[in-house]
Amino acid sequence: MDKKRIYLSCPTMHGEEQKFVQEAFDTNWVAPLGPNVNALEKEMAAYTGAGYASALSAGTAAIHLALKLLGIGEGDVVFVSSLTFSATCNPIAYEKATPVFIDSEADTWNMSPVALKKAFEKYPNPKAVVLVHLYGTPAKIDEILEICKEHHVPLIEDAAESLSSTYKGKHTGTFGKMGIYSFNGNKIITTSGGGMLVSDEEELTKKATFLATQARDAARHYQHSNIGYNYRMSNVTAGIGRGQLLHIEEHKALKKKIYEQYKEAFADIEALTMNPLNPHGDANCWLSCVTIKEGCKVTPNQIMDALEAENIESRPIWKPMHLQPVFADCDFVTEKEFKSDLPAGCEPESISEDIFNRGHCLPSDIKNTKEDMDLIIGIIRKLFDK
Ligand SMILES: *Cc1c(COP(=O)(O)O)cnc(C)c1O
Repeated sequence: MDKKRIYLSCPTMHGEEQKFVQEAFDTNWVAPLGPNVNALEKEMAAYTGAGYASALSAGTAAIHLALKLLGIGEGDVVFVSSLTFSATCNPIAYEKATPVFIDSEADTWNMSPVALKKAFEKYPNPKAVVLVHLYGTPAKIDEILEICKEHHVPLIEDAAESLSSTYKGKHTGTFGKMGIYSFNGNKIITTSGGGMLVSDEEELTKKATFLATQARDAARHYQHSNIGYNYRMSNVTAGIGRGQLLHIEEHKALKKKIYEQYKEAFADIEALTMNPLNPHGDANCWLSCVTIKEGCKVTPNQIMDALEAENIESRPIWKPMHLQPVFADCDFVTEKEFKSDLPAGCEPESISEDIFNRGHCLPSDIKNTKEDMDLIIGIIRKLFDK
């Protein structure tokens, strides 16, 4: 195909990344650890306002270690957002713990505090709550934290998609006992692949780093009292991250601009609504999404097909975890019986399912030009003009 590919969200490099990587090569700090890793941890802690950070090979590894640090194991119940990417809950399965999926609320698409309360009535002793800030929109953090505190259950924030988003002026990922970020290729900044665990408790990030480097005891001979992992970030990778972090606010501003452009362009289409933002937050707008009004003839798949025909990438909303074959046996808690105007039998049974059915993620790459945006908007408008 000759047409230029327009991406959903892919890496944007600036040049400084190479300078840090070059330094790593020049000093032969190519192997794991080294000055870039230490520096990226300090810089991320300073940027987010988290006390301490541990640089890891992936966001998924960070979630896994967060669960390990809380001692979560076989049979333990963990409450987790249903509307998310599988990486949020796979580590719960690694530890043979039991995920209980919590439905979204319509206001932010994130974990419903009402459903969370209900889940505590059914399962009074979960070992943790894993909260996702989906597509960069901060969840109702105050409400969720209050419920967690009341039950003395630690909160882990999966801020993989929301690095740079704030809630009441404070960074997402820094409210819970631990927070995690991802530097995967499609995230707001990338190291090609990587992640970070942050906490206000130095003991936790230290222990994470220890477990991530094969859990070697402080002895000259190779002695191990714990099962360890090979989850550490490399010094080359961290160099890319340092270069990227210099541009994070710029990336955020561009992502927000994309969201505003779509919002303005679709303002007169009654059947299209942008994904919600949190009025108490400042979202990074990692992905701009729309939902199509119930009863409208246009489907998310039609949007995807129409864009793909012009070599433009878009993506369905994450399929909720409680609807995944692999988690079919797991429990799911929703606010209430879900009601819609659709005929019986066609009704979604939850808010997350409804968002999945009617929503779509639009191209949100910060390198998209004005012409690219006009093209995308024109294709979508045409579907609704009929
Ligand atoms: C990307 C992502 C992750 C996983 O991060 P990796 O660095 O790819 O392991 C976890 N949770 C959510 C919500 C994500 O979008």
